[in-house]
Amino acid sequence: MGWLRDLFKDTRPVCVHCNETKTDEEFEGSPTCWSCERDILEEREFAAEKKYNCPECGAEMKKAKKKGIIVDKCPKCKGVYLNAGELKSIINSVRSSSENDGFASGFVLGLVID
Ligand SMILES: [Zn+2]
Ligand SMILES: [Zn+2]
Repeated sequence: MGWLRDLFKDTRPVCVHCNETKTDEEFEGSPTCWSCERDILEEREFAAEKKYNCPECGAEMKKAKKKGIIVDKCPKCKGVYLNAGELKSIINSVRSSSENDGFASGFVLGLVID
């Protein structure tokens, strides 16, 4: 039955990023599966964000994504800081959600828990 397997052989190139998934998708000229493409774009989005040092202890803030909103979090003293754009997205989300759906409390709890 080898011929049958050859007939239906998946001839698509393998994703150059994970070396696993065969894909028709291309990203910047290289075969890239959709999940690798998403990872790359997400990483770039993080890298493009300005880095801050913690105003409390001076440690470099780490980016954390909470409910689609990127916040700066200090790994040392656990402080959480928002820039104007981040704060605005949170306010918009809170405004557009009803008081009962728990977005605001879920968001704040999510920050405290991890
Ligand atoms: Zn991949
Ligand atoms: Zn700190």
